[in-house]
Amino acid sequence: MSKLYADIIINISHEALDKVFQYEVPFVLREKIEPGMQVIVPFGRGNKEQMGYVIRLSQKADYDEMRIKPILRISEKGVSIESKMIRLAYWIREQYGSTMIQALRTVLPSSSKVERKLQKTIWLTDSEDGLSFLEKAKKKHRKAQVRLLEELLKHSPLSWELVTRQLKIPRSTLERLEEQKIIRIETKHRYRNPISFTEEMKPPKQLNEEQQKIADEFKSDFVQNIHKTYLLHGVTGSGKTEVYMAAIDTVLEQGRQAIVLIPEIALTYQTVKRFYQRFGDRISIMNSKLSQGERYDQMLRAQNGEIDIMIGPRSALFTPFQNLGLIVIDEEHESSYKSESVPKYHARETAIARASMEQASVILGSATPSIESYQKAISGTYRLWRLNYRANLGSAMANVYVEDLREELKCGNRSLFSRRLKAMIDDRLKRGQQIMLFLNRRGYAGFVSCRSCGHVLKCPHCDVSMTAHRGGKLVCHYCGHQIPMPKNCPKCGSLYIGAFGIGTQKVENLVQKEFPGVRTLRMDMDTTRKKHSYEEILSAFSNGEADILIGTQMIVKGHDFANTTLVGILAADMSLYANDFRASERTFQLLTQAAGRAGRGNLPGDVVIQTYNPEHYSIVAAAKQDYQLFFEQEIAYREVLMYPPMCQMMVIFIGCKELDIGEAAANMIGKEIKSYFQSMEELSMHGPSQAAITKIKDTYRYVIYLKHKEYHALIIVKNHLEKYMEDKKIFEKAQVTFDFNPMIGY
Ligand code: ADP
Ligand code: ZN
Ligand code: ZN
Repeated sequence: MSKLYADIIINISHEALDKVFQYEVPFVLREKIEPGMQVIVPFGRGNKEQMGYVIRLSQKADYDEMRIKPILRISEKGVSIESKMIRLAYWIREQYGSTMIQALRTVLPSSSKVERKLQKTIWLTDSEDGLSFLEKAKKKHRKAQVRLLEELLKHSPLSWELVTRQLKIPRSTLERLEEQKIIRIETKHRYRNPISFTEEMKPPKQLNEEQQKIADEFKSDFVQNIHKTYLLHGVTGSGKTEVYMAAIDTVLEQGRQAIVLIPEIALTYQTVKRFYQRFGDRISIMNSKLSQGERYDQMLRAQNGEIDIMIGPRSALFTPFQNLGLIVIDEEHESSYKSESVPKYHARETAIARASMEQASVILGSATPSIESYQKAISGTYRLWRLNYRANLGSAMANVYVEDLREELKCGNRSLFSRRLKAMIDDRLKRGQQIMLFLNRRGYAGFVSCRSCGHVLKCPHCDVSMTAHRGGKLVCHYCGHQIPMPKNCPKCGSLYIGAFGIGTQKVENLVQKEFPGVRTLRMDMDTTRKKHSYEEILSAFSNGEADILIGTQMIVKGHDFANTTLVGILAADMSLYANDFRASERTFQLLTQAAGRAGRGNLPGDVVIQTYNPEHYSIVAAAKQDYQLFFEQEIAYREVLMYPPMCQMMVIFIGCKELDIGEAAANMIGKEIKSYFQSMEELSMHGPSQAAITKIKDTYRYVIYLKHKEYHALIIVKNHLEKYMEDKKIFEKAQVTFDFNPMIGY
C-alpha cells in the first residue's frame, strides 16, 4: 500500500499560513484523519511536541521521504472552531478551485498589522476594607488615597484614564494599594465595537398569520434538530426581516448563534438599528468600511461568545461562532454573494455546506429568488415558504404602467420621458410627493463614436469603449484611464464625434430643464465614493430635501420612503443586452425591486416602466409583479440552451499579458481536456476562444466553457487540470482561474 502524507500548518495566523510542513500519516491513523483535524507532531530539531492542523492529504511526498517524520497522534481536544473553518476551506478549495492557502485566507480572520488595544480598569476589592482604609488615609492626610477611595466607594470599577488623568493619582500610589490588596488592576483587550446606538430596545412586532406559521415551523424543526435550507419567497415589504428575527430568537433560546448575510449596499444604518432594537449588544456588524483591526475584533468577539449575531456581507459567513445554529441570507439572488476573486465561491452554496458541517439551518430570502434556488425549492431540495402580502396593511402593491418608447417616437416625442411619465411627475410635484428615477445602466456604456466613419473610442488598455463624463473627459470604467474628449475623430478627422447613450448626470440635467425649479439628488458611482455619502444621500431624500432622486441600480435597494409615490424606470431593457445568460433574470430582478420602492407608506404608488421591448417576458412579468410567470419562461429558456441550473457550467479563464502566450496556454488546456476526457460523453466544451472583452488592463483574456449535468464531473476536470498545470512553465505567465456557474459575463 502506498504511503499517505499530510500537509500541516502549525500556526494559523495569515502571515504564517504558507509555512506548510509535510508529515507521514501512520497506518493506524489512515482511516481517521481528515483535513481540519488537530494533530500532535514532532517539531524542529528537538522534536518538541506541537499541535498542528491537517490542511491536505496526498500520496506524494514533496521532500526526501526519509526525512519526513510521522504524525504522533490526533489531538484529544475535540473539534475546535479553527478545525471547522479549515475543513470549510478545504471544501471551498475542492469545490471552486484555488490553492489551499488562498482558501484558508478566505475563511480565517486576518490579524496582520492589527495593533492590540488594551484597557485597564481599577476595582475596589472589598467595600468594608475600603471604608476602613479610607478612614486611616484621612487621618494620615494621604490626599491621593482619599480621592481614589472616595471615588471607588461610589463607583467601581473606574477606568485607568479617569484615575490617572482626572483624579491625578500617581502610579506609585496605585501600585502600593494593589500590593495591600485594597484595589485590583485589571488589564483586558479592548475590542473595538463598530455599533454605537443608545436606542431603547423594542418588543417584537406581533407576527401576522403567514409569518407566524413560518416561525412556528422553523421552531418546531429546530428544537427537534431538524436542519434544512428554507427559501422564503416574499414580496418586498411582506415582513421577511421579522421572520428572520423570530427564527433568530429560537436559535438564541437554544444557546446557539446566527449569521445574517445582507448585500453590503443594503447594510444601512436603518437595517442595523432594527436588529439592534431587537437584540441589543448581542449583535455586531462586518463591512468593508471597518478597519482591518475592527473587523478582526468582531471575529474575536464572536469566538469568545461576546456576541450572538453577526450581520454583514459575504465575508461575514466566516464568523467563527462556536455553536452556529442559523445562517440567514437576505436577497439571496444578489450577484455580490459570489466572490470575484479566487476562490470564486458562492456564499449561498458555501453557507449550506458550512451549515451541514455544523448541524445548522439556512434561511434564504428574496422577493425574486434566483432561478437556481427556486428550482431547488419546487423540487423539494429546499423547503419553500411564501409571504404573499405586504405586512403593513394599507400599503398595497403599486400600479405598473409599461410605456413603449417606439410608440412615443412615432408620435413625435423625442424626450427622455414618455407622456405618461411626464404627466405623472408633474402631478406628484404639485402634490409635494417624491419621485425616484431609475436608470438601468447595467451592461451598457455611454460610448463615444464618430457619426461619419463609425469609429468607437476605446481604452488603449482594455477592450471596452470609453464613457463620456462631465467636463469633457473620457473615462474607462474598467481601469480608470482618462483622456480628454477629442475634437476630431482620431481615425478620419471628422468633427462629428460625440457621446451616445445617457448617464445619470445627463438625466439630472434633462430633469432640471424639463421641470424648472425641481430639487434633485443623484446617486451613482461618482456621488457615492466617500465613506458616508450613500447614507447621506438617502437620508437627505428621506428628509424631503429633494423632490426627485435619480440613480442607478443602487437606489433600488435599502430604505423605505413613505412619501415616494412614483418610480420611473427610464430604460428598462438596457440590462437585457449584457453578455451573459443571466441577463433576463437580472432585468426582472431590477425592475421588480425598483417597482417595489413605490408606495411603501400609506399613499398608493405608481410605477412607469419605459422600454423598447414591451413584449419581452422579463418586462411583462415584472410589470405584473408575477415571479411565477417569469420563472416558467426563464427555466424553459435555460433548458433549451442548456444553461444552469439545467446543467452545471465551469468557465476556465486564462489571462496573460502576452497575446501569443495566452493563446498557446488556452489551446494547451483545450487540447488536454479533449484528449484526457474524450470518454466523458456528457461533457460539452466551447472554446478556447477570446473572451467577449478581449483585453482588460493590458491583460489578454481567453475562455473555455464546459458544461455537464453533474457538478462533480466538472470538479474532476478541474482537479486534473490543476495537476496538469502544476509543473509547466507557461502557466507562470498565463494565469488560469476557474469559475463555476458564473455570475458575470467574460
Ligand atoms: P421585507 O424584509 O420582506 O421587505 P420587512 O420585514 O422590512 O419586509 O417589513 C416591511 C415593513 O412591514 C416594515 O416596516 C416592518 O416593520 C413592517 N412589518 C413587518 N411585519 C409586521 C407585522 N407583523 N406587523 C406590523 N408591521 C410589520
Ligand atoms: Zn471618424
Ligand atoms: Zn481601461
